Amino acid sequence: MTATQPGDVRAHRLSSADYADNFSDIHPPLTPHEALVEADRCYFCYDAPCMTACPTSIDIPMFIRKIQAGNPAGAAKTIFAQNILGGMCARVCPTETLCEEVCVREIAEGKPVKIGLLQRHATDTFMEREEPHPFVRAAPTGRRIAVVGAGPAGLSCAHRLASHGHDVTVYDAREKAGGLNEYGIAAYKTTNDFAQDEVEFILQIGGITIETGKALGRDVTLERLTAEFDAVFLGLGLPGVNPLGLDGETARGVIDAVDFIAVLRQVEDLSALEVGRRIVVIGGGMTAIDAAVQSKLLGAEEVTIAYRRGQEHMNASLYEQELAQTHGVVIRHWLAPKSLHVSDGAVFAITLEKTTLDGDGKLAGTGELVTLEADQVFKAIGQTPDAGPLAGVPIELEKGRIRVSAERRTSHPKIWAGGDCVAGGDDLTVVSVEDGKIAAESIHKALMA
Ligand SMILES: Cc1cc2nc3c(=O)[nH]c(=O)nc-3n(C[C@H](O)[C@H](O)[C@H](O)COP(=O)(O)OP(=O)(O)OC[C@H]3O[C@@H](n4cnc5c(N)ncnc54)[C@H](O)[C@@H]3O)c2cc1C
Ligand code: SF4
Repeated sequence: MTATQPGDVRAHRLSSADYADNFSDIHPPLTPHEALVEADRCYFCYDAPCMTACPTSIDIPMFIRKIQAGNPAGAAKTIFAQNILGGMCARVCPTETLCEEVCVREIAEGKPVKIGLLQRHATDTFMEREEPHPFVRAAPTGRRIAVVGAGPAGLSCAHRLASHGHDVTVYDAREKAGGLNEYGIAAYKTTNDFAQDEVEFILQIGGITIETGKALGRDVTLERLTAEFDAVFLGLGLPGVNPLGLDGETARGVIDAVDFIAVLRQVEDLSALEVGRRIVVIGGGMTAIDAAVQSKLLGAEEVTIAYRRGQEHMNASLYEQELAQTHGVVIRHWLAPKSLHVSDGAVFAITLEKTTLDGDGKLAGTGELVTLEADQVFKAIGQTPDAGPLAGVPIELEKGRIRVSAERRTSHPKIWAGGDCVAGGDDLTVVSVEDGKIAAESIHKALMA
């Protein structure tokens, strides 16, 4: 294949009204009347399966009953007691594979109670009314804890520790707190700067200081933190991205999908963001879907997701896959990247090999090649941990992630960890919140023993 034309990558593909429309809230909130009608659909099940399926064990029938009784603020308190980031989780949780998947009304009628939207109704009502913070901080204990990473895991841990009366200092390498809530989640899931509103809400408990622009391994060391603080919690997330391992990967237009989304989330004017006319996204998870859908919403004409296995193997849920397809994204399965075509330093196409499973169930190339023209190729084949910042303090790792016990204790007696950076988790916002909460309770128990 030869280069026929320079890559068509540019800004201002759409009208201002289109950008505003495309990036508006994907699931508009329920009106108070709609919330009452939806709450009425709940059977308030005994041993509610929805509650068991929630990683943070929110008492779902209880909060829905409070909405039904006209008490959304009380419902919010029930939610926040288990999940202080209940507002964000209401927006980003893949409820179709968690609480709503097991709702008895889903099983009986294929139409679950809209738990996510009800949760959002309760938490938004509470936060919009600017009610006093739902929890009162316990008397100061004089104990100091360092939390590294101000993502969902770190924020959840910090809030629970502060509520027990401990003083918490949170360090984060980036300019703003929030982790992927601020830099990663698709823009249409969290509009109007909600991530920052939620950080402010969490800080209202008192006793938490956030130091942004402070990176572990650069501005502070783990050795210093373990010496100066009574305990340390690590909620570092996954800072790296897997490479494709192809020549030409540094060419213009070959981009980490997570970086693309971070820029999109921070840009003031979406119309100023450059996007290719033809885009190929490599991957099969939420990041691939989000990069693909958002490029379409920015005005890309042809967006293809290429995934090396079948539809049933994709990490993105069926709902997410359908979301991409309804936005005009083409998902092609059984295709693995083989080579990038570059001209004048910019990518213009990618060749993929058709794949299959061999007799041992292993992925194998068939030798059949497909070439897709692409002004941009987004890499979304998984994020990777970085043990660099942990240097100097021995901590056991498992495949590069931090090994933790059920209490989220690491092999170091003063260090706990949670969220995406630990081994064995599900890489979901709500799971990270739960990790932070469990670690905070364990730290509290250890410090007060
Ligand atoms: C594109 C994308 C979309 C996603 N969409 C969804 C979704 O819709 N729903 C869902 O449930 N999950 C989603 N996820 C997953 C979810 O965002 C993560 O599971 C969750 O954010 C993990 O929380 P965390 O606190 O462990 O890490 P992060 O949110 O990654 O936060 C880690 C924090 O640590 C900081 N940090 C890292 N290294 C250092 C250092 N050396 N020193 C100081 N600070 C440091 C980072 O700056 C960051 O603020 C998505 C992930 C991605 C990448
Ligand atoms: S499973 Fe469905 S109907 Fe039962 S309590 Fe949960 S939300 Fe209500």
